[in-house]
Amino acid sequence: MMKYFTKVKNKNFWAEIKHFQPHEFDEEKGDGTGFEQMDEDLIRRLDKARSIAGVPFQITSGYRTPLKNSQLEGAVKGSAHTVGKAVDIRWIGRENYFKILNALKQVGFIRIGHYIWSEKENRGTIHVDNSTIKPQVQWYNLASTKTTKTNWEQRFNNIA
Ligand SMILES: [Zn+2]
Repeated sequence: MMKYFTKVKNKNFWAEIKHFQPHEFDEEKGDGTGFEQMDEDLIRRLDKARSIAGVPFQITSGYRTPLKNSQLEGAVKGSAHTVGKAVDIRWIGRENYFKILNALKQVGFIRIGHYIWSEKENRGTIHVDNSTIKPQVQWYNLASTKTTKTNWEQRFNNIA
């Protein structure tokens, strides 16, 4: 894995990103925070994952100010979103879910959160971040469904 040691955020990398525009990561569309705040390593890996997956990644959340983050229901204080190191990707359909997930794992992401909004309608959100100060684990939020955790872990293991 490549490492970046720049102290000042260099935004030149955006020119090399194939699948995403900076505004997709804005807190409020058009406010420029995506371009200014998103982490280079995160965006580069996300772009690579998008190539591997071959399906659209709909970004539902990128950068968040700490204030906005604190106002969101269920958002974690000090979320990686507040330092530009997290994105939420909406998926529709189990097949797309596994394509996205598999690609994220292939480019080395470890911290992946699974939010299954509707088992019946086959849709949800994947949170992915490259925080190095938070636990290096995956997690599941199944509060909004009747799916059992075991059930999802079994499916998850099938992707390898
Ligand atoms: Zn998130």
